Amino acid sequence: MSFEAADRLFDAAIPSAIAMQERAGIDYVSDGEWRRESYIKVISEHVEGFQVNAMPSVSGSVSDPAVVAPIRKRDDLATSAAKYLLSHTTRRAIVTLPSPYILGWRMWKADISSGAYATRAEFMVACAAILRNEVENLVSAGVDHIQIDEPWLLLLVDPEHRERVGITSIDDEIETCVGMINEVLATAGTTPTSVHMCHAHFARKRYADGGYEPIIDAFAEINVDRFAMEFTAPESHGVDVLKRFPANKTLGLGVIDQIDRNIETPQLVIERVEEALKHVPVDRLTLNPDCGFSPSAQNPMDIDEAYLKLGAMSAAAEELRRRHE
Ligand SMILES: [Zn+2]
Repeated sequence: MSFEAADRLFDAAIPSAIAMQERAGIDYVSDGEWRRESYIKVISEHVEGFQVNAMPSVSGSVSDPAVVAPIRKRDDLATSAAKYLLSHTTRRAIVTLPSPYILGWRMWKADISSGAYATRAEFMVACAAILRNEVENLVSAGVDHIQIDEPWLLLLVDPEHRERVGITSIDDEIETCVGMINEVLATAGTTPTSVHMCHAHFARKRYADGGYEPIIDAFAEINVDRFAMEFTAPESHGVDVLKRFPANKTLGLGVIDQIDRNIETPQLVIERVEEALKHVPVDRLTLNPDCGFSPSAQNPMDIDEAYLKLGAMSAAAEELRRRHE
């Protein structure tokens, strides 16, 4: 099927993803990210220079694209989709892009990529230029919030992950990652921004384990308004680390486990929030699920579950607003 034909089908389907979120009571809605095969593949779907199925996927099941030639934008990554979203909702619209750092790790493979980019870092810089331009276009389109997805910053805390991919210095990796995020968001202006972190999930399993302690002090260096963090996951090891959360940032507290098929009650969500409120003031706390519900072949998700879970989160938010007015 051509991209054009697929887009017509997505145009027909996406209003239902938007309506589902609106009905669940969500303040910032997305298009469900249904147009993308995955949140990172959005780059290889709209940028030339990639070879499909050339990179072993970290999930071990399906191969990812790898960069094999200098990258060049074919069409926009997210701006047309964002305009479609904006014209189909009266709520605020949030749009996500992957960070250059994760793209560097997931799509650069020395033996086939070094002809185009001698190092992983050079490829990250090239990705950052494209993403930075996309952020500028999203701002012009009038989106209400831009989120950079960066699970690999959190994956750094897991020694098994570091060994698997050959990372020796966490500090060097943090510095590169932070620099890349700041580069991309330099064009965001006054549009609010988030960075999302999680332990990555495939087929209802999390990929890594470890709390935020080794990375949280770097948050102050990231030029972003809000951190959308996974906290329901046992792999996050609790909210005590939030006592080191920077005072000038907003927390996006993960209160819904998108992997667990059991639907949280609003009461359970409220308990999770009250725990976090011991460390972060109420005016700097927002709620989100631990990670997204976007479905894919690698990661089948259930839309009814998503609806019920988001509904529980909204009901909890309403009660908490009453309680903490
Ligand atoms: Zn995530």
